[in-house]
Amino acid sequence: AVQLPVALIVAATHGSLGIGRAGTLPWRLPTDMTFFRLVTSAPGESSCQPAVVMGRKSWESIPKKFRPLKNRVNVVLSRTVTDFGSGTHAFSSLAQALSALSRAPPPASTIPPVSSIYIIGGAEIYTEALKHPATSRVILTTVYADEDAVQCDTFLPDFRRTGEWEQKPVADLRRLLCEIKCHEAIDLIPVDGDRVRENGLEYEFTLWEKR
Ligand code: NDP
Repeated sequence: AVQLPVALIVAATHGSLGIGRAGTLPWRLPTDMTFFRLVTSAPGESSCQPAVVMGRKSWESIPKKFRPLKNRVNVVLSRTVTDFGSGTHAFSSLAQALSALSRAPPPASTIPPVSSIYIIGGAEIYTEALKHPATSRVILTTVYADEDAVQCDTFLPDFRRTGEWEQKPVADLRRLLCEIKCHEAIDLIPVDGDRVRENGLEYEFTLWEKR
């Protein structure tokens, strides 16, 4: 059984939940990248690192010099590739990866104990993770972009409209970041409900929880 809570962390357009274009991100949002790095590398209460779980295509989209992602246990899912190099752990299914990560201490596995689990994309992995019972949160950066201008070709299923998920007040997101001792990320959230403005786009950090 999967015991650790699982959270998706994703940036998507407000209208159609577009997340990608031509195998890469449709935008460059430096504050969102910093937010992502801080949240996914915050060790929380324990001394161990969080795990980031991604699909093979998202792994390939990370520039070589930045992978594996620092200070995080990197887990890559693929049905075809069994080894992504040192500092990575490959699995052929999401269920296998999540149960291996939750089993602590690991008996026969090389995977270290982790403090939390973040699903970091792309669309295939997010889609499966949204249906997994261990997934309880979505940390969603809502990007208010003109859909024609950003031209996404990859989308999240619209979990917002299923009735299964509830948007929480931004105070709850701040509280969560406080719990995981991620105070630097809290400082990136604008006060008074303002949006971040960068490279001609406006966006905000939001939290969704399973009802
Ligand atoms: P993914 O990153 O989800 O990778 C898909 C691959 O993962 C598959 O081809 C397969 O690899 C493997 N895979 C998928 N499901 C499973 C499974 N259940 N078990 C084992 N392996 C599995 O690709 P997408 O094309 O869906 O998404 C990539 C796009 O998303 C890019 O444009 C990227 O930039 C974007 N993105 C956006 C983010 C955002 O926050 N805006 C975050 C992350 C990515 P194989 O073929 O080897 O079997």
